[in-house]
Amino acid sequence: MLIFTGGTVSMGENPDTKALEPLDHKQVLAYIPELQMMDVNIASVSFNPLVDSSEIKPTTWIKLTETIAQNYDLYDGFVILHGTDTMAYSASALSFMLENLSKPVIFTGSQLPVRVLRSDAKENLLTAVEMATAEHNNLPMVPEVSLFFEDELIRGNRSTKKNTENFDAFASYNYPVLAKSGVHIKYFPSEIHYGKNTTLIAHKQLDTNIAILKLFPGIQEKFVNAVFSTENLRAVIIETFGTGNAPKDEWLYRCLKRANEAGTVLLNISQCRAGSVEMGRYETSLNLLKAGVISGYDMTLEAAVTKLMVLLGENDRAETVKELLRYPIRGEMTVPENVL
Ligand code: ASP
Repeated sequence: MLIFTGGTVSMGENPDTKALEPLDHKQVLAYIPELQMMDVNIASVSFNPLVDSSEIKPTTWIKLTETIAQNYDLYDGFVILHGTDTMAYSASALSFMLENLSKPVIFTGSQLPVRVLRSDAKENLLTAVEMATAEHNNLPMVPEVSLFFEDELIRGNRSTKKNTENFDAFASYNYPVLAKSGVHIKYFPSEIHYGKNTTLIAHKQLDTNIAILKLFPGIQEKFVNAVFSTENLRAVIIETFGTGNAPKDEWLYRCLKRANEAGTVLLNISQCRAGSVEMGRYETSLNLLKAGVISGYDMTLEAAVTKLMVLLGENDRAETVKELLRYPIRGEMTVPENVL
């Protein structure tokens, strides 16, 4: 099943404004007649209206989750056409919202609109469909929420948009690719999660009362206080330096400690895209540990945001959320063996 949400892949140029805006999904399909030549029965549904992915909201993720859950038994796999700007957020969100997934859900899109001759839309879509229907011993090759772009299939909750210009627009810095397409499509089963074929559970409760606090040299107390005085705030992702470090200022320590004691969940995600948070390695992270900040290890920001929304949506108690944050739930982070 193809699910159109929008994005450049399904856009065309407005002759008056020259800006790219969404087309009808049938117009997009008309540009890819090769889909009919594949040995696959394809049904397509479209969100109305199709949107630039900057317009994607958690309500879209709920709609996507519902569409997949309602059609789960009818199709072998799902390909979601989506704008690239927030695709990594959506792929991460869906990975947390779909528990016990045993069929492929593949996000894809393109950097150039489908009607442009040099567009990457056709290749991306055709390969994503091939991957979503690939089987071995009657079982799907990649029963995960993943993202295909250019020549790589990567885990959805490990993905991040890295480039606004290149066709190779996404990266998975902290986890190996699940499959690679060239002359042949090569799958890497040892990297793929094969769940037990149990009943799909759709999590549809999200809480968006979170904030991201990006640290920078010179960050001021009044700014940090303003973030923490946000009404109904339940969690703050602190985007730290390097392996999870922060300035040692006493005011910052006091602010974080106070917030933690008042039940705000604090999660440490590094500003570095590759590598992991390792609190306690440098003295500049000791205050964070003391204040009760939880390590996000090598999680992407996109995964951290969406994992928090899902966990907060289903759990009222901060202590429960903190406990659930310590372990990977969908292969979204690597926790060192001595901690597990
Ligand atoms: N602004 C577009 C979007 O995210 C960019 C793209 O699809 O590549 O919807």
